[in-house]
Amino acid sequence: MVLNPLLNSPSLTVITGPSGVGKGSIVKKLLERHKEIWLSISATTRAPRNLEIDGEHYYFLDRESFKKLVHEDGFLEWAEFAGHFYGTPRAQVQEQLSNRRAVLLEIELEGARQVRNSFPEAFQIFLAPPNFVELERRIRGRATDQEEAIQKRLNRARDELKAKNEFDAVVVNDDLDIALSEIEKLMRLS
Ligand code: ADP
Ligand code: 5GP
Repeated sequence: MVLNPLLNSPSLTVITGPSGVGKGSIVKKLLERHKEIWLSISATTRAPRNLEIDGEHYYFLDRESFKKLVHEDGFLEWAEFAGHFYGTPRAQVQEQLSNRRAVLLEIELEGARQVRNSFPEAFQIFLAPPNFVELERRIRGRATDQEEAIQKRLNRARDELKAKNEFDAVVVNDDLDIALSEIEKLMRLS
C-alpha cells in the first residue's frame, strides 16, 4: 500500500460491496468526519432516484454521452451494473491524487478489478452484509427500486459476495458504527 505522505493514509481507497450493504451510508459518515477525503463522483446512465442531484450524487448521462467518454478513454474504470453503465471520470481522480488528496472510490466489483490492474497500490475494502437475508431486507427497505431492479441487484449480490477474498480487507457491516471505525483504522484515519 502506498501511503499519502501528508496524511499517512492510503492515497487511493476503493470501497466495494453488494448493492444495499451500506456503502453509501458509510461513505457519507466518512466524508462528514474526515474532510480531507475526496470522493469521486461517478457518471451513470441510470435515472436519478428521488432526491439525487446531478453533479452531486452522480453525473447522470445518456448512453450516447457515456459511450463517447468511454471511447475518449475518459474513465479510470467503468462497468455495466443491473442494466446501466457506471464509470469513474479519470481526470478528476488524477488531479486530486497529484494534489495529494486521499481519494475514495465507491464502486462495484468489476470496476474494482479494473482499478486493481491500473492502480495496484490502491487499498481495496470489501463491505459485506452480516447475512443474505439482512442484505435483502436493506435493499427492499430502501424502497427506491422497482421489483425487477431489486431482483437484478440480489442476483448480482450473490456473485459479488463470492469475490470478497480478492480484497485487501473484508469489513462486515452489521453495526454501522463498528464497521465505520474498522474502515477508519484500515484507512489510517484518526
Ligand atoms: P449501498 O450504498 O451499499 O447500496 P445504502 O447505504 O444505500 O447501501 O444502504 C442500504 C439500506 O441499508 C439503507 O436503508 C441504509 O439505511 C441501511 N443500512 C446501512 N447500513 C446499515 C446497518 N449497519 N444496519 C442496518 N441498516 C443499514
Ligand atoms: P446505485 O445504482 O445503487 O447508485 O449503484 C449501483 C452500483 O454501482 C453500486 O454497487 C455502486 O457502488 C456502483 N457504482 C457507482 N459508481 C460506480 C462507478 O463509477 N464505477 C463502477 N464500476 N461502479 C460504480
